[in-house]
Formats: sequence, structure tokens, C-alpha cells
Amino acid sequence: MTVPLLDLKPQYQALKTELDEAMLKVAASQMFILGPAVKELEEKVATYCGAKHGIGLSSGTDALLIALMAYGIGPGDEVVTSSYTFFATGGTIARTGAQPVFLDIDPETCNLRVDLLRDFLAKDCERRAGGFYNRETGGRVRALMPVHLYGQSADMDPIVTLARERGLPVIEDAAQAIGAEYLSGRRVGGIGDVGCLSFFPTKNLGAFGDAGMCVTNDDALAAKLRMLRVHGMEPKYYHALVGGNFRLDEIQAAVLLVKLRHLENWHAARQQNAAYYDRAFKVVGVTARVVTPTARPGHRHVYNQYVIRVPDRDRLRAYLAECGVGSEVYYPVPLHMQQCFAYLGYRPEDCPESARAARETLALPIYPELKEEQLQYVVDSIAAFYAGA
Ligand SMILES: *Cc1c(COP(=O)(O)O)cnc(C)c1O
Repeated sequence: MTVPLLDLKPQYQALKTELDEAMLKVAASQMFILGPAVKELEEKVATYCGAKHGIGLSSGTDALLIALMAYGIGPGDEVVTSSYTFFATGGTIARTGAQPVFLDIDPETCNLRVDLLRDFLAKDCERRAGGFYNRETGGRVRALMPVHLYGQSADMDPIVTLARERGLPVIEDAAQAIGAEYLSGRRVGGIGDVGCLSFFPTKNLGAFGDAGMCVTNDDALAAKLRMLRVHGMEPKYYHALVGGNFRLDEIQAAVLLVKLRHLENWHAARQQNAAYYDRAFKVVGVTARVVTPTARPGHRHVYNQYVIRVPDRDRLRAYLAECGVGSEVYYPVPLHMQQCFAYLGYRPEDCPESARAARETLALPIYPELKEEQLQYVVDSIAAFYAGA
């Protein structure tokens, strides 16, 4: 048996007629840029996330970048985020000319630790004329960027409260978490000031290439994001701002509109697969070795990734590969230890839980179309590794 980490073909096979038709319709119209499918997708995704506006964009990375640009964040500024996330979270902050501030994660969820955020803002920063500054660096703290890693919401209420007290916007990196819910059924992306979604093919809602979106309840911010997406242009050939080409392709929007109708079913299938793993790891008796992911009470985890913690992770991963089981390490190097951020001067021990997660985490196959035998085979293979170890 083989169990790939992700196989997108069965999803395409199931929807082939609808998807092909949607793409051919765009081809027939020859309307490729900001057409009716983009508009409809923006409305539907915004509603889905509990937000008023959706701005279709070229990728999740560009969604983060343009959100930072819309707040005028740049040189001399700092943005606070977590050190254990995909590179784009920190990379986009740096690309604006601002400095990322990396705080450690809660080991249970791999999301930003709120107590560390509270301490940083209370002890390391001070209010001065015109802003809120990091005492050590002199940088002006301009925004908080929590990440909803693996498909589970960060602890948003205290994050939003801390931000409001200091007049800082909250930019949610919801790239892995469309449809995930925080307490009281609030969907990620619509909780902070702006939510950044990715439709990269491996995300729960994946395009046929790169695509993303910003969602927001803020009318003025939405208008600015729409302008920045087309080189800051409004009206045509008049540029009040320097933006870029951050547009979502019509053909991607057409694909995503078909797929959006199935998203709830796919979330449910991922949750069932996760529940199967949770049970099966107990049954085979490896829970002393394998720590299964925690879904916080009252949250809806949409399992973009099912990430376990294990000792001897790299040897297990090699063994699984021999068994025909795909797996991945998200992520082997925390952002505070990336070479390109050496200039920030972090030491590994500054974010010890991120450093530990980088050694222990392993993502297992979780995509919706997996069969029970495949899930059991993954569990049995892991049990066999620890029985022999
Ligand atoms: C995927 C991802 C991004 C970037 O999205 P792209 O569409 O690949 O540019 C940003 N942040 C996180 C946490 C992601 O997982």
C-alpha cells in the first residue's frame, strides 16, 4: 500500500465535469482579468468568513504583503508574529522594510503564545508621542500578525484586546485555516482587522495554481486594498499610491467557485480522518511516543495539516518513506533561526518551543479522500517503527 501525503487527483476526478466547464467558460469569454467570477468569489468567500469585503489576490503571500502595505508599514516599523510558521509570514514583513518580532509558540497548538505577547507589549514597549515603540530597538510597533497554524485559530480574543488597547491592527495569517472557527463560531479572517487567505493547491480550498484573498469588515481598508492590487490606480492611469499587480486570475476564481461548494464536506472528511488517527493511535498503544494534535475546546479545527510530535522524528520519517507513507516537516527551521533573519540577532533559545517543534513535528496524510485502510496503515507503520526501535 502507498499513502501519499497529498493526492489532488481524486478531488479533480470527482469534480472534473464542473471544473472543466467552468474553465472553458472563462476561455470562451476571453475575460481573464477581474471578471464576474472574481467578483462572485470575493462575495462568497467574504460571507463564508463572516466578513463584509473580499479582495481577490494573486497568492496568500501577496495577501499578507498588501495588507501590510495598506497600513503603510515600512522602514522603522515592527510587526509582531510567531516564530513557527511558513516563511511568508515573516518574509512579507521584512519585504516592506519593517522588522519582524518573533515570539514563541504554545507547544499544544503551535500558535502564538498570548502571555509572551502580553509581556512583550507591556514590558518591552512604551507609548511615546505618535506611537508605540520597542524600547530595545527603537522600532515603532505597527501591527500584530497572528497565524492560525495547521487549520486551528490562534487565541484571538486576548490578541485583539491587546491590539485595541494600543491602537494596533490585527492582520490574521489565515492561509492554512479558511473555515476554522474560534470561540462562539467566529470564523478566522473575519475576527481581526484583515484576514489573509491562501488558495495554494495544498490548502483546504486550493486553486489550479497560485491564488489568495484578503477579507475585511473595514470599508476604507477594502477600498485601499482594491487600489493597491492594481498599482494603486484609481481612476485608470491615475496613481495616488504605489501598489503592484496583485490580481486574482478569473480562471482561478472560476475553479475556486466550483470547489467552494464542497469545502464544508472536505473539512468534515479531514476532521473524520483526524478523529480516526486520534483513536487508532490509542488503540495501538503508541501514545507514550506519539503526541497527537490538540483541538482546543470550542474551536473548529479544519486540519489543513494533522501534525504529530514524536521522538526520533527524522528516522521515523525515513522509515515511513520506506513503507510508502508520505509525510512532511512543517517546519524544520523556525523563522527566528533562518539565515536571512540572522541580522535580527535571535538565538535559538529565544524561542525554545519553536526550536523544539522544529525537531519533533511530523505532518501525516490527512486529505479528505483517504480510505480507512490507508489511515490504519499509517498508524500501523508508526507503531511498527516504535516496536522495533
Ligand atoms: C501557504 C501559506 C502562506 C502563503 O500562501 P501562498 O498562497 O503560498 O503564497 C502564508 N502563510 C502561511 C501560514 C501559509 O501556510
